[in-house]
Amino acid sequence: MTLHGKHLIAGWTNGEATEGFRAWDPVQSAGLDPVFFEATPADIDAAAEAAEAAFDAYAATEPAHRADFLERISSEIEGLGETLVKRASRETGLPEGRIRGERGRTVYQLRLFAAVVREGSWVDARIDRAAPDRTPLPKPDLRRMYVPLGPVAVFGASNFPLAYSVAGGDTASALAAGCPVICKAHPAHPGTSELVAHAILRAAEAEKMPDGVFSLVHGQGYEVGLALVRHPLVQAVGFTGSLQGGRALFDAAAARPVPIPVYAEMGSVNPVFILPSALENGAEALAEKLAGSILLGVGQFCTNPGLVFGVGGEAMETFLQALGEHIRRAEPASMLHRGIRDRFCAGADRLAAAQGVERVAASEREADAARTEGGGALFRTDVQAFLANDMLSEEVFGPSSLVVVARDTAELERVAHSLKGQLTAAIHGNGEDIARYDGLVRVLRRKAGRFIFNGFPTGVEVCPSMHHGGPYPATTDVRTGAVGDTAMQRFVRPAAWQDFPSSALPPELRDRNERGILRLVDGKYSTGDVG
Ligand code: NAP
Repeated sequence: MTLHGKHLIAGWTNGEATEGFRAWDPVQSAGLDPVFFEATPADIDAAAEAAEAAFDAYAATEPAHRADFLERISSEIEGLGETLVKRASRETGLPEGRIRGERGRTVYQLRLFAAVVREGSWVDARIDRAAPDRTPLPKPDLRRMYVPLGPVAVFGASNFPLAYSVAGGDTASALAAGCPVICKAHPAHPGTSELVAHAILRAAEAEKMPDGVFSLVHGQGYEVGLALVRHPLVQAVGFTGSLQGGRALFDAAAARPVPIPVYAEMGSVNPVFILPSALENGAEALAEKLAGSILLGVGQFCTNPGLVFGVGGEAMETFLQALGEHIRRAEPASMLHRGIRDRFCAGADRLAAAQGVERVAASEREADAARTEGGGALFRTDVQAFLANDMLSEEVFGPSSLVVVARDTAELERVAHSLKGQLTAAIHGNGEDIARYDGLVRVLRRKAGRFIFNGFPTGVEVCPSMHHGGPYPATTDVRTGAVGDTAMQRFVRPAAWQDFPSSALPPELRDRNERGILRLVDGKYSTGDVG
């Protein structure tokens, strides 16, 4: 399939050859064809207007029809075969095996949402029947469910070119909820984005979805994304990426005459607390597993463990020695793009130069800038130095970690209080430690979206009980997350109908439970009809 580099707006292509950019192969340090076009304000308008025009019809599609659409997108993505794998690998430097794995996760997510939509109970239907004889005032008939918000703008991250990009969790959950999507392609993988967008549009055509249900626009500068967020027809934003980007879009949305929600999943340093019992019972084995988590995917995961805390002593020194050895032996590897590598190198240099911080180890082989490589890095400091310098708690996106050595467990709890919001927090210890260090456990529970016991943060299982989110700055909305079926709740709002005749209600709220969904009827859950 030949890429054209143009925007895909409501099923037609658009792009003017005035300005443009190319994708970049970070391993070969070479530009890739074709030229991709920068969206103009007219392109953004056209995409937003098409999405708005599609909204009513798309929101009204039968759940089974919408589920078919999502499943069809999955098959179309699979149908792209090795063309997609090779292009995504060239644009990101990620190995083809990793891309295949990520494609599996992407199509699984789409099918998961399809199953949830087909089943139907996610709309959280609630019915309270009228009590006309109630005194002193009669009670009206009230029925409530979730309804879609409207056109959603989606921004993908560079480190997940499939699973958090054009047909990733944000797009899948917005489409599942009944919202048209306008996606801004990440300029680090525009060809991958175009291929996936074609797959979505082929599925839309096959399933006879309204034009405008999905559009893709390209842009290398911030203006395209900001224009999308500021567009009056856009009703919500799904974003995965850096704190700087997420915050800029959140502020732009809040400054609109009509503010809209921005669900930004951003960076995190994912603290790992190692209690004394864990260090004493196998410092070397722990170091090996932690090194695997730090170095996985050249450290380019939002769940990378960037901070490690433990109490000083002989066991800690053994641990640091072993961890340092793994980092030294780590082969530098290509990072996603030059911007990510430059930021990683600058972050590691900042850590090395900070007062009270010592570089414990770095990859023995020097990273090759021509191949956009990043090498492993390990630093240590103490609690005093850590608390005195805010910069030490910031994300350094890449294969680097800072070990903070405390004098005792009371200091561990004190330092935990100072942490900002996180996607995850991990504790290593034994079963009794959970009660013994109750204070620390409680502090961490307030800081993170997911708590891990004797494990590491990398690897996010996609299933209904996963929560991938957390307090700011991990996300801009602590109540939701982008992984799992609850992600749909970001793109809906509750609406109530008062005293409407049953026939005029949405099918989910009618007396006869045509869809057989679980509903809360007069305070009791039931799948039956309202008698
Ligand atoms: P990024 O630089 O923030 O880019 C994401 C998207 O946002 C791009 O389309 C980018 O456009 C746009 N953008 C960035 N800054 C902007 C601004 N000031 N105004 C308007 N648009 C802006 O993120 P990335 O480098 O691709 O991804 C790496 C980061 O994502 C890491 O910090 C990582 O921790 C985080 N991440 C988080 C999760 C999670 O679930 N929480 C998952 C994966 C990654 P341009 O490229 O045109 O600038």
